[in-house]
Amino acid sequence: MTGARHKPTRNGPGQLFDATGLCGEGGAMLNDTQRAMVQAIATHGPISRTDLAQTLELSKPAVTGLAKTLLQSGIILEAPLTRTGPRQGRPSIGLCANPRFGYFAGVSTAREKNDIALVDFAGRVLMRKPLSLPATPEGVADRIAGALPGMSAELGAGAGQLLGIGVSVSGLVDPGNRICRHSALLDWHDVPLADLVSARAGVPAIIANDANTAATGEKLFGSAREEDDFAVITVGDGIGCASFLGGKLYTGHNGGAGEIAHITVDPNGRPCRCGKRGCLDTVASRGAMLTAAQEAGLTITELGQIEQLAARRDPQALELIHNAASALGMVIMQIVHIHDPKSVIVVDTVGAMGHMARAIIRQTVATHVLPEMSRSFDLRFTVAPEGFWSISAASMAAHQFFAAA
Ligand SMILES: [Zn+2]
Repeated sequence: MTGARHKPTRNGPGQLFDATGLCGEGGAMLNDTQRAMVQAIATHGPISRTDLAQTLELSKPAVTGLAKTLLQSGIILEAPLTRTGPRQGRPSIGLCANPRFGYFAGVSTAREKNDIALVDFAGRVLMRKPLSLPATPEGVADRIAGALPGMSAELGAGAGQLLGIGVSVSGLVDPGNRICRHSALLDWHDVPLADLVSARAGVPAIIANDANTAATGEKLFGSAREEDDFAVITVGDGIGCASFLGGKLYTGHNGGAGEIAHITVDPNGRPCRCGKRGCLDTVASRGAMLTAAQEAGLTITELGQIEQLAARRDPQALELIHNAASALGMVIMQIVHIHDPKSVIVVDTVGAMGHMARAIIRQTVATHVLPEMSRSFDLRFTVAPEGFWSISAASMAAHQFFAAA
């Protein structure tokens, strides 16, 4: 089990980071408040010291003092604030993350086409490459650690240092984000993947359920930056869900919160790979829909073709889309009634959810959610960009970096 070891580079006036955590100038650990401040600046910057004080519920002198330390360390920079009005004179100066301070790596493990992405402090993708992964956890860790030195060299010293690695897995991860408890897709049980990766790469690593990485990406760098209560549902080869509650990712007692794929939507439905019957996964996942379409005699190879047939009023295609979208809508209704989120973001990870499916989901939710709850609730649909899972995994590394030690 030999793996290339990535040597963190130095950046700025001191060694700011080692394999065990973030260090301040001279090796002192950044405290929780400083980490929270770096996260707020990375997420909302450029941000004024006054707004930062409000966001963090600190006094302005306290923020000014903390900012001075972080500016000296090179982790943040001063930057002109964007003007919203017609005011004259010099622009005010705010704080933003230093994109040259460092970056995060993210790796997806669960899809056919895996890749590795490097993402900066502001969530911008610096580089992304395909990464073929073997089946064994040790092999996966070796491959990740082996890819990083070359990618870091390609980025150059100006990009700063690799600050952490996030790895997404399809399955159950322990609440500490170190061990993959179970992944049916990878056939892994109790695999300490975070430690395997960290030991080989020489920087902190974290693993997370893929839906959790998607929600974290939306919170740190996506459309949910200003929201504390929201859910992200990923729909594609599988169906996943993760929620932020009160500003924190909610993973549940066993790390299994959001396992909506196996909510029963039809007790007499098709057998599911989990052993139950009629789970949401058997109705609305990509594989389930393709199988049902073929069994119905529809000659299609891609999911998008079902919607095309439905648009021409093909009754079987219409029924398939209606079954999948209304089942998903009913599950969203349950999420809304249980958690009362500000928004639910449905991410189409295979780019196959058309207007009809979206309209049925919206209609189902509008019909079944209590009106007083649905008035302030926002249902959004997005199509996952290329590299969605690896970029989301990198967000998880950023989340770990910003989180309190
Ligand atoms: Zn199931």
